[in-house]
Amino acid sequence: MEIIDFHTHFVRKSFLHPTWLNLLEELNPEFYSKIDEFSNNAELFTAYLKSQGVRYAVVLPEWAPATSGVVPTEEVIEYCRGQDMLIPFTSLNPNTHPDLAPQLESYVNDYGVKGLKLHPSYQFFYPNEARLYPLYAKAQELGVPVIFHIGSSTFKGTRLKYCDPIYLDDIAVDFPDLNIIMAHSGRGFWYDACFFLSRLHKNVYMDITGLPPQNLLSYFPELEKNADKVIFGSDWPTMPTGIGENIKAIKSLPLSDRTIEAMLYRNAYKILFK
Ligand SMILES: [Zn+2]
Repeated sequence: MEIIDFHTHFVRKSFLHPTWLNLLEELNPEFYSKIDEFSNNAELFTAYLKSQGVRYAVVLPEWAPATSGVVPTEEVIEYCRGQDMLIPFTSLNPNTHPDLAPQLESYVNDYGVKGLKLHPSYQFFYPNEARLYPLYAKAQELGVPVIFHIGSSTFKGTRLKYCDPIYLDDIAVDFPDLNIIMAHSGRGFWYDACFFLSRLHKNVYMDITGLPPQNLLSYFPELEKNADKVIFGSDWPTMPTGIGENIKAIKSLPLSDRTIEAMLYRNAYKILFK
């Protein structure tokens, strides 16, 4: 079975806030000692992905100067250049980037970026604010998905109210052809809301990034009924295990082969390549 990891981060020591660096050191000490080796050498990362059974990985930048750090899109584009396994996304911040829609268009058309990540709780905006609408219209027109971080985080300065998944309901209704992915599926106390929204709207998906696989069925007892709307992501490198271990734990859940294949590959493939 081929596997797509829909959620990995490009990190470099100098880009990250101490709060993220400390978490990385605590969770993944082996990687921590090699951060910049990885960030200077994409082949090291693709070899790692292959060793874990991953065929494609979405690589995310981050533009949250107040909370987690600044990882420029240009760095991610450069890192992914010539690597067919790596799929670059952009991260735009409505409070610091003035021309959101033209910026997205340029990244997609001129640099081959395949999607957008937004971080309401780190960047401080409500997803359904009118000022974001031209950006969503552009993403819909370009046919690229938008990932929203939806759920808790331990990073200092996070303002959780902006992550309430209810604000995505407006976007799902107003942009019916825009694929919306809820990263972390409402981690903390919005699991039910995310599950409901992704079943209700054909264009809304939930990703299970950062959730312990062994808990998935207690968070989402009816996961099997939502097989076509659930997507795997690892949050690499901010994770306590290897990506392969995570995949193995998902494969061992009491779910049908069809559901597991949809989560690990098919749903992501449809969004990224069709
Ligand atoms: Zn993440």
